[in-house]
Amino acid sequence: MKSIRLRPGRERSLLRRHPWVFEGSIEKGRADPGETVRVDTHDGKFLAWAAYSPSSMIRARTWSFDEQERIDAAFFERRVQAAVAMRARLAIQSDAVRLVHGEADGLPGLIVDRYADTLSAQFLSSGVERWKGAIADALLSITGLTKLYERSDASVRALEGLAPTSGWLRGEGPTDIAIHEHGWQLSVDVAHGHKTGYYLDQRDNRRLFCDAVRRFGCARVLNCYSYTGGFSVAALAGGAQEVVSVDSSAPALAAASEHVRLNGLDETRHRTLDADVNASLRSLAQEGQRFDAIVLDPPKFAPTASHAERAARAYKDINRLAFGLLAPGGLLFTFSCSGGVSAELFHKIVAGAGIDAGVDGYLLQRLEASSDHPTTVNFPEGEYLKGLAILRR
Ligand code: SAH
Repeated sequence: MKSIRLRPGRERSLLRRHPWVFEGSIEKGRADPGETVRVDTHDGKFLAWAAYSPSSMIRARTWSFDEQERIDAAFFERRVQAAVAMRARLAIQSDAVRLVHGEADGLPGLIVDRYADTLSAQFLSSGVERWKGAIADALLSITGLTKLYERSDASVRALEGLAPTSGWLRGEGPTDIAIHEHGWQLSVDVAHGHKTGYYLDQRDNRRLFCDAVRRFGCARVLNCYSYTGGFSVAALAGGAQEVVSVDSSAPALAAASEHVRLNGLDETRHRTLDADVNASLRSLAQEGQRFDAIVLDPPKFAPTASHAERAARAYKDINRLAFGLLAPGGLLFTFSCSGGVSAELFHKIVAGAGIDAGVDGYLLQRLEASSDHPTTVNFPEGEYLKGLAILRR
């Protein structure tokens, strides 16, 4: 078994059960991509078993802090079993659920979403890439499903020195999957959709939005960065009279329109705008438009803290413009999925945007990812999605 030794004093984060070992912390030792290594302190005390990744800044990702634990196929079966059992206890009212959420489930770099009878997975680190076969077998045997689609085409794989790959890993079947969320029917394209196909992290927030639209009687709704229209369906189901979905992806907007139709909602109340959100917000303001509810759910502006400053400006811009379009008594659901922007910083940015727009509001609720996208106490970096529900005064 190969081992790596840390520089003096660099054991602190692993002792706090943080799962990553950065390149700069390692004094000596190397291994092949994904190979299991023993991580020792400078003076040779065991810290963890980890997967080595020669080309990544995150040089090793921890599998286990237990010296007795063996990293083998049975280990992956235990981890997958625990992750799936946790979701079962959450009793999620949907047939689309995140079953494995990377580091939080002790499986760094592995994302697995279940869409009805089909699993869609991303293998994003050298460690899970190396154990792909064992993980795939565990996923099928534990869920009792037969179909697993691989979507390892995310750009972060390049940081691990891994080429993009996608396609059926186990079984075969249609790649357009019908799922049900809060009683709405949605179609998820596991082959071409974003990430694994859909944004399950916003499931709970789509429910909250639907309820708020109904409770506050929001008539005109603007859904920015709509993707396939999850929040648009929620708004129409909540009784909105007019919903505009804005996104720069034409296929996503086509799916949004299809989702409105599929759910028997009034298609004449839904309009799509294939455009850049920032530009659309500006032109809607110029037209003097007003909305009773606005969703802002942009893509990740800051993947890491080093991008935070530029991202902060971009978030502030769109939030200022959205505040300006919000009717008095209107509702803003605003989000950031940037790991590099903390909930506290995001709150500050949105507050600043409100001041610039001359708008004040009640903070109705702080929003986060659905509970099947858990974070763990020892890994604050895992907390990526944050949002605010604001009611304009
Ligand atoms: N709210 C969605 C998820 C949004 S994901 C849901 O609940 O499912 C972010 C979306 O922003 C993607 O669909 C992407 O196509 C879109 N997007 C990215 N940059 C954009 C831009 N500058 N203008 C408009 N849409 C953009």
